[in-house]
Amino acid sequence: MNTTLRTDLTVGDICAGFEFSAAEGKGLYGWSGKLTIQPEYQRHYLYAERGGSRERAVVESVLRGYPIGLLYFNRVGDAYEVLDGQQRITSLGRFTKELFPVEDAQGNLHYFESLSAVQREKFLSTPLTIYICAGTEDEIKSWYKTINIAGLALNRQEISNAIYSGPFVTAAKKIFSNSLSPRLHLWRNYVRGDVKRQEILRTALEWVVKSSDDSAVETYMSAHRNDGDASELETYFERVIDWAQKTFPHVHDDMCGLDWGRLYETYHEKIFDVAELAAQVDKLYADDAVTDKRGIFEYVLSGGELTKLLHVRYFELSTIKTVYSRQTREAELAGKSNCPMCAAGKGSNAKRIWKRNDMDADHVTAWSAGGETSAANCQMLCRHHNRLKGNA
Ligand SMILES: [Zn+2]
Repeated sequence: MNTTLRTDLTVGDICAGFEFSAAEGKGLYGWSGKLTIQPEYQRHYLYAERGGSRERAVVESVLRGYPIGLLYFNRVGDAYEVLDGQQRITSLGRFTKELFPVEDAQGNLHYFESLSAVQREKFLSTPLTIYICAGTEDEIKSWYKTINIAGLALNRQEISNAIYSGPFVTAAKKIFSNSLSPRLHLWRNYVRGDVKRQEILRTALEWVVKSSDDSAVETYMSAHRNDGDASELETYFERVIDWAQKTFPHVHDDMCGLDWGRLYETYHEKIFDVAELAAQVDKLYADDAVTDKRGIFEYVLSGGELTKLLHVRYFELSTIKTVYSRQTREAELAGKSNCPMCAAGKGSNAKRIWKRNDMDADHVTAWSAGGETSAANCQMLCRHHNRLKGNA
């Protein structure tokens, strides 16, 4: 990869011919048309949304002679795209277009045209520090991933969108990165994340590739890069959501952010009695021993197999001490091991008295079979036999 550092370009050069789309909330072109500032695959204009303080800070930095950091451009033929710095450039361009004012030391607001001629000239002639790179996709990718400046670091999906820009990303963003989508309200019951930061799109991609690895997501994006639509992605995502909604019609907050793609793949061919599932969910929600309510949904889908997902509460230490001394006293009187399973055997441990720390508390009637987490349903087993029994 070939990288060139340029320090000869000024704010005025880059802002020449600046175009901003108010409808889309993004800067479009600069550097007299040679530079695509914020290609459609890039982020929405976050600086202005955050009350404008960031974009003011960028302009005020330039006016005061402070550096605004490195900018990174990618050369594509004779044109350039901003890899990083689009928000700073858009701030500078918007200021020259009179779209917002800055504050001087006395607290007075000034639009660009109301600055003195000297200040305007100083602003426009400020040199920028720009790295321009040209290379293969892989080279740009690994280089781009190391860029982390300006306080608004790109997340991994924003980076992937930039690297695999094209018709597919454009189409996918129309579906998954559209905060006005009427479907979003429903999706939010199941998917966590910020629409504008591409987090719903990321989830959709992870589901369709059945993996959360960056490499799997990127392989898919690369393969579909030039697709004119994202219909496979959309159809699969809708199918998963539809299944989740039909399986658990009552929405719980804990459903949001579960790996519904994996749950769909694992369980969608099973036939469920939806009313029965709902009754089980309600019962588990009411059970204090279930400390991880998020595990309830897969637990009931698994037919009660995956008890570990619920993180069922262990016995209190006071209960353990009580049960241990009672059991040990009785065992000593009977001349048997204080582990009832050892005592029932004929091995060398049949008469062994275990120390408390060498034993584990066990539910006599398994929790999953309705057994309570109380002293009445607690027995101490040696480690070996507790593991052998193997349930909660
Ligand atoms: Zn034992």
